[in-house]
Amino acid sequence: MNKFQYDKKGLLIVISGPSGAGKGTVCKALLKEVRNLNISVSMTTRKPRIGEIEGVNYYFVQENEFKKMIKEGELLEYAKVYDNYYGTPKNKVLEKLKHGEDVILEIDIQGALKVKSQFPEGVFIFIVPPSMEELKNRIKKRGTETEEEVTKRFQSSYKEINYISKYNYIVINDDIEKAVERIKSIIIAEKCRVDRL
Ligand code: 5GP
Repeated sequence: MNKFQYDKKGLLIVISGPSGAGKGTVCKALLKEVRNLNISVSMTTRKPRIGEIEGVNYYFVQENEFKKMIKEGELLEYAKVYDNYYGTPKNKVLEKLKHGEDVILEIDIQGALKVKSQFPEGVFIFIVPPSMEELKNRIKKRGTETEEEVTKRFQSSYKEINYISKYNYIVINDDIEKAVERIKSIIIAEKCRVDRL
């Protein structure tokens, strides 16, 4: 008798959203709660913030190193965001997916669109704060950016929200636990899709 079986390839999950939407906190919680889930550690030319750890939050590199990786085709996607380069190392992601592990990319919209053109079967999730007012409060409260950077991030959030329609799901982060539950449900549902069997 033929057996039904889920797709053995891992799920590529792309999470974007404005700065201050709480993507980082949500992803951290997801990693603790979902088996077989990995987060891709990006390369960036941005300076580390206090408390950020090399190889955990990002791989912090110089611009020439980053450009060399682009040239050698080592990045799945990259983008310039708020004057710094950010990119996803390609090989690690592809290896994990091949071995049936799910991978989250927490990347900006430009990067997400590039990934979508290569992986249309990916799951694209956009996280938003409950309101724009709350977004500004969160960025300010975080205290990791200068006044000028806070304004820049807030202004670009307005533009980013216009791209929601490019994503498959929108998750409102009014409460971390609820947002995590919603994403867990999305992952479960996606794995059960008929076109993934
Ligand atoms: P932050 O400086 O706050 O850590 O990140 C700034 C923005 O860069 C966020 O929107 C984040 O999602 C995005 N980002 C982080 N890593 C990557 C990446 O590898 N590729 C792209 N395209 N964006 C990234």
